[in-house]
Amino acid sequence: MSDDGNVRNVVILGSGPAGLTSAIYTARGDLSPLVLEGEPSSTSDQPGGQLMLTTEVENFPGFATGVMGPALMTEMREQALRFGAEIRTEKAARVDLESSPIRVWLAGDPDDAPSILARTVIVATGARSLMLGLPNEARLLGYGVSTCATCDGFFFRDKTIAVVGGGDSALEEALFLTKFASSVTIVHRRDSLRASKIMQDRAFANEKIRFAWNSVVEDVVGGTTVEHLRLRNVLTGELSTLDVSGLFVAIGHAPNTDLFKGQLEMDPAGYLVTHDGTKTALPGVFACGDVQDHVYRQAVTAAGSGCMAAIDAERYLAALEHAASVGEATGGTSPSGLAASAPPSLPTAGATIG
Ligand code: NAP
Repeated sequence: MSDDGNVRNVVILGSGPAGLTSAIYTARGDLSPLVLEGEPSSTSDQPGGQLMLTTEVENFPGFATGVMGPALMTEMREQALRFGAEIRTEKAARVDLESSPIRVWLAGDPDDAPSILARTVIVATGARSLMLGLPNEARLLGYGVSTCATCDGFFFRDKTIAVVGGGDSALEEALFLTKFASSVTIVHRRDSLRASKIMQDRAFANEKIRFAWNSVVEDVVGGTTVEHLRLRNVLTGELSTLDVSGLFVAIGHAPNTDLFKGQLEMDPAGYLVTHDGTKTALPGVFACGDVQDHVYRQAVTAAGSGCMAAIDAERYLAALEHAASVGEATGGTSPSGLAASAPPSLPTAGATIG
């Protein structure tokens, strides 16, 4: 189906492994996708997604000696551009996924004139870092409080740092920070880690890493920068002070789904619900990657589901085109190509994708 310039075939929201893989596939399928890659930010909600805030990725297939997260995302972006994807460094401000065509507003668009109309939308907005919700946490974000060791670790040379969390993210942050810091204390609310065995082994073997077990951060204290943490032992209730210049929060993620509230079905944690691959309940709207996956959450699974979304979108468009041509041949009411309901039949295989 040709992209007539006014109504895009495919609009992709997000540019992590899921979004960019769907861009590569739909661009190769000649569907001229438009990617709204997001805007620069210090959280994982930014162009390139969570891998922009990570260091070495050792488990993405094809890289025998590992690859840096940002380098991997740069390659994916280049690959999408090479096949003709259009990428804009903007976010969707509002969407109407139930309209036909689907309407997407950018910041500053008038209510009655969204910038973008689309036959299909692939939602790949990913997930963002969770915060602790401490009284001073937001005020000191960027002034000693961080969610990104790769971005901010450099500023903590020879300083003491705390990392909160017991998962792979926390250990990865802590291990990276030992390059700069004099010591890194992992503050964890239990007495055992959730992280993978290999990461645990590395953390336990690193002499710069210490552990504050069964402990939570009550508050981060400081005027213009972090001066110390107030810790509470959850078993004894005992309060203590931990002198650090930096607090890195690595306690997991939440899906970026605020934009879709009231339009797309979500589970209790806010992740999008998909069925039969990457379909949502709305025709022409597909979801892939961490925004709909709270189980696997890996770069490679996100990329895989981005591929699935591209194929699902391509088949949907092919079915629309088929329905339109049948309508014309029988003299019936010709579908506009922007049907509000699911197309009558779906071709079995993507003719152009893959
Ligand atoms: P996660 O596995 O969900 O771990 C979150 C950690 O934060 C848990 O230890 C949890 O404690 C703790 N936590 C949660 N809320 C807290 C709160 N309010 N206060 C204090 N502590 C809190 O998240 P993740 O580490 O971001 O990892 C997410 C996924 O990405 C996992 O599948 C992981 O394997 C993957 N990942 C892989 C790599 C890698 O392979 N290199 C790197 C990063 C992430 P509890 O343990 O008590 O629940």
